[in-house]
Amino acid sequence: MKSSCKIFLVFSITALIFIGFGCQRTPGSQVEKEAQTPQRPNIIFIMADDHAEKAISAYGHDLIQTPNIDRIAKEGILFKNSFVTNSICAPSRATLLTGKFSHVNGKRDNLDRFNGDQITFPKLLQDAGYQTAVIGKWHLKSVPQGFDEWKILVGQGDYYQPEFVQNGDTSTVEGYVTEVITDFVLEYLTGREQDRPFCLLYHHKAPHRGWMPNTQDLDMFNDEDIPLPPSFYDEYNDRPAAREAEMKIADMFLSSDMKLMPGYYDVENGKGGNDQFDAEASWQEQYSRMTGQQRQEWDKHYLPINEAFKKANLSGKALAEWKFQRYMKDYLRCIKSVDDNVGRVLDYLDQSGLAENTIVVYTSDQGFYLGEHGWYDKRFMYEESLRTPLVMRYPQEIPAGTVSSDLVQNLDYASTFLDFAGVRPPGDMQGRSLRPLMGNTDIADWRDAIYYHYYEYPRGWHKVKRHYGMRTERYKLIHFYNDIDHWELYDLQNDPNEMNNLYDHVEYRQVQEELHLKLDTLRSTYGDTDPAATL
Ligand code: CA
Repeated sequence: MKSSCKIFLVFSITALIFIGFGCQRTPGSQVEKEAQTPQRPNIIFIMADDHAEKAISAYGHDLIQTPNIDRIAKEGILFKNSFVTNSICAPSRATLLTGKFSHVNGKRDNLDRFNGDQITFPKLLQDAGYQTAVIGKWHLKSVPQGFDEWKILVGQGDYYQPEFVQNGDTSTVEGYVTEVITDFVLEYLTGREQDRPFCLLYHHKAPHRGWMPNTQDLDMFNDEDIPLPPSFYDEYNDRPAAREAEMKIADMFLSSDMKLMPGYYDVENGKGGNDQFDAEASWQEQYSRMTGQQRQEWDKHYLPINEAFKKANLSGKALAEWKFQRYMKDYLRCIKSVDDNVGRVLDYLDQSGLAENTIVVYTSDQGFYLGEHGWYDKRFMYEESLRTPLVMRYPQEIPAGTVSSDLVQNLDYASTFLDFAGVRPPGDMQGRSLRPLMGNTDIADWRDAIYYHYYEYPRGWHKVKRHYGMRTERYKLIHFYNDIDHWELYDLQNDPNEMNNLYDHVEYRQVQEELHLKLDTLRSTYGDTDPAATL
């Protein structure tokens, strides 16, 4: 057993005794008391929506500087290989709460309603004496359970003048959503009970589609060109599911995605795999939410763009690349506000003396395409949306500057938080605590492959076919099913952009056989073996 595991066991037993028998103080000075009575850590779980790893500078990319998110990584741990189990918003949230795959927790796609009667980690922390709260995006359709306080956005939420539900009442709050959520978080932190640990889920709407930046950030990137990714003009050879998906930047809506106003373009010819969506009506609704002052600042930036677009009369590749620039700049501007507001919370933790004993996590509900394969959005098991950023800080236990390359998933968060709180995770949770990985030690029996399953087809958006698969450190095997029966195999070492499907290539036959065996084992281990679910 590694030393970090021993430390954990001692801590857990001590913590359980402390929880079970209340405040049994030992004699001696205050310093001795604190040394002998481990405090359970507070937890602030920050999650953005659709924040790609490539849009965080701590991950070694220079699309945008994110100094505050980077600070969490520098003062704690950065997970280089962090993945989701099902790359779409609401199922990801159900998985993180329950520690279970979608086929077990029942939340397979965005249209399902989450069964909130299930055991979740906030409920278990609440039972163990934690104050629990969720503030921001929830998106699970059912009422939050397991939280002493909750203040959640209605549905996906709006960027300007967002509506919140609190204890059954809905109210509109003036301001920009990322700042408003953070204001509520700071209010919660200052008003909470001081003598009990807390677990706060601080969940942003940004940078979800709609990509409406805060007016103060509109001029970032004005004079820059964002480089096109090498796979932008992918032709999807040997990848029929990729070819049939409707999530190309070239097809983005001129109104709701590009923010063009009526009269500045001829006809709305965008598409996104949802024939029911009225892009122009949606954009008018979002635009009309702004106050007069906000609209004035908005128009000052966007009306010259509208004018220039009308004059340029773009088509073909020039139009696709213009859309790429517009998309990327608004997406990154939304992230600027998220990073600034994460900084406000980190500052508060410093000023209030909470930083040392608070676990701060930053992650996203999944990754996102930033032009790779010509796409925006997520869903596919390809790297950009399978990956999700994950950084954590806990000065009392995690050495600053730790980097983990172990294969971890959002499946693991519930067990991790329970572990830190000294609560034994229920046996049917399918993830593992990440805590043993945080001390720069190699854990011999850590997983060597992750499992994935996506379901939202044919209903929903973007026409991404159902698929499941597994990824090892080097290889990936995917099976697309439902109205197709198609396998893909990638060698990520030689083909990190996943352009070459090697399935049934003779030189990979041995690898393919081994991956199939491994996939069967994973499906059996996680109980995803219902043949009806993969027809
Ligand atoms: Ca999302």
